[in-house]
Amino acid sequence: MDNGIQIAIDGPAAAGKSTIAKITASKLGYTYIDTGAMYRALTYKALEEHIDVYNDDALVSLLEGIVIDLLPSEEGQIVRVNGEDITEAIRSQEVTSNVSATAAQPRVRKMMVEKQRLLATTKGVVMDGRDIGTAVLPDAELKIFMTASVEERAARRFAENNTRGIHRSMEELCQDIATRDKADTERKASPLKQASDAVFIDTTSMTIEEVADTIIQHAEKRKQR
Ligand code: C5P
Repeated sequence: MDNGIQIAIDGPAAAGKSTIAKITASKLGYTYIDTGAMYRALTYKALEEHIDVYNDDALVSLLEGIVIDLLPSEEGQIVRVNGEDITEAIRSQEVTSNVSATAAQPRVRKMMVEKQRLLATTKGVVMDGRDIGTAVLPDAELKIFMTASVEERAARRFAENNTRGIHRSMEELCQDIATRDKADTERKASPLKQASDAVFIDTTSMTIEEVADTIIQHAEKRKQR
């Protein structure tokens, strides 16, 4: 009986992690958890309540008082805060521009990591983020570090934005992504970095299906161990 493994997918902004993680989870019949959505949900609430996104203590108080739910759906995941569906709202430009500040706060990260570990207690999980293989699930059976060139990531985000009605030029997107990469890799608290035992995949010239198939092949090998 296959009771599943833990698959950690990390990588920089707009590398296609969520898309690939969703497909992989669905093909394997696993639970998909998008941890970026949790940082985005906190940021959304902080902006709504005019809380400084650099104030760790204020953010922690906010986080203690809200309930973030990640619910599986056909499209991947519904995100709720205190019962309010904010799945689309957390993708706004305002949230995207502020989320790396929130996510750099050490106490916020500590609380988020605890919550994320609880979500992954059942086996058969695909979790994506920045620190899953290094901090959240260091014992995950399969770790993937996925990236693509900044231009390719901007092009993918441009296409995704079109479906959401968000208007941002390619130049602005390249700038946004480079800024977020810098914040995520240079922060002190569990920065974005490849785990030493992660499989590196450069998806720049790969299709979504090719990437998902590569990960599933690795997962099948790990399951047999
Ligand atoms: O994955 P997504 O782009 O939605 O993540 C939004 C932001 O949340 C990232 O830019 C990063 O600052 C933060 N994040 C993080 N650790 C995670 C997931 C996301 O710091 N595990």
